[in-house]
Amino acid sequence: MPILVMKFGGTSVANLDRIQRVAKRISLEVAKGYDVICIVSAMAGETNKLVGWVTETSALYDGREYDAVTSSGENVTAGLMALRLQEMGVPARSWQGWQVPVMTTSAHGSARIEEIPTDNVLRKFAEGMRVAVVAGFQGLSAEGRITTLGRGGSDTTAVAFAAAFGAERCDIYTDVDGVYTTDPRICESARKLDRISYEEMLELASLGAKVLMTRSVELAMRYKVRLRVLSSFDEPSDTAGTLVCDEEDIMEKKAVAGVAYSRDEAKVTLLAVADRPGIAAAIFGPLADAGVNVDMIVQNISEDGTTDMTFSCPVDQVEKARKAVEEARRRGDYSFADLIEDQGVAKVSVVGIGMRSHAGVAARMFKALAAEGINIKVITTSEIKISVLIDRKYMELAVQALHEAFDLDKAG
Ligand code: ASP
Ligand code: MG
Repeated sequence: MPILVMKFGGTSVANLDRIQRVAKRISLEVAKGYDVICIVSAMAGETNKLVGWVTETSALYDGREYDAVTSSGENVTAGLMALRLQEMGVPARSWQGWQVPVMTTSAHGSARIEEIPTDNVLRKFAEGMRVAVVAGFQGLSAEGRITTLGRGGSDTTAVAFAAAFGAERCDIYTDVDGVYTTDPRICESARKLDRISYEEMLELASLGAKVLMTRSVELAMRYKVRLRVLSSFDEPSDTAGTLVCDEEDIMEKKAVAGVAYSRDEAKVTLLAVADRPGIAAAIFGPLADAGVNVDMIVQNISEDGTTDMTFSCPVDQVEKARKAVEEARRRGDYSFADLIEDQGVAKVSVVGIGMRSHAGVAARMFKALAAEGINIKVITTSEIKISVLIDRKYMELAVQALHEAFDLDKAG
């Protein structure tokens, strides 16, 4: 029988009533003839509570125990979902990560899935089980310890199962009805997309759109898993939600598919860095070692033997960044005149595979921002994305202006 993966996020399984609703939806797919692999998150708020307990008990916690605790939320929903399905007469059982087993790396708190052997689950399907309810977010390390995949990791569990089992599709049920051109809370005219390409979704996810974990989109792209994002609160329909798929399967031919933002950014500039071969490595090596997630990087030309080096990072990492830079300077790795921080910036980006073929996208973007009197502080581009840093207080305005400038409120 064909296999369908259905993943339900925390709000979709937040209480027993909702679990029952979701179980009904699963039974509809079973009735259509699918064997279902159902991946569940912990009930809404549960993982936050567990993380809170861990950090309250131990500030410098042992990652193995963090994972032992935080993985438990999913076990509860998996068992309850299996019970509910059984009550409805659907043959189902729960699986914790180690039982499958979902083999992962040993990077506790952010483990990566390495392998999902299919034989155990397939044997149960062959014996008549119709739904395998799998606890998302968790796995097993080679050392035999429970691991977790990082926050939002159940999305990744779902896509990895879809890839491993060759599922017909991977449906990600959440509390929004799909992927939008931008955040509807910021921009009223935001529109739900029927389809979006893997590459665009990947950019949007890593640029701050929270609907899917970035890693899950990477996996979907690599293994060509057809992903659908839809709401568990809407009535079932075959056309609901947004399909994340191959570029070739998309009709819309716009330059830009969406506008993303990330609010809490900071900009750090090293002024008059003595320039020489290896200077960038000398600056960014220690930042990487300190665990600073450097995002944009701009190096000015050096006419007089010195250059200004600007980078951006999450605002809560500025302290860490400053320390790393100052230590390197003290060690004599490099010298600079001054360090300037700007903790009040946000990043706004436009994303679209259409950029590859449409000219003038950047000019259109800059014009739209200029028309609102918004100053651009840093610009970076890639093949399908243009990002700018601007003052945080103009972020909403910028998103709205760009949404309008690229006609994202209209289909086609
Ligand atoms: N429960 C985990 C979290 O809240 C994993 C997930 O829901 O995807 O991050
Ligand atoms: Mg999620």
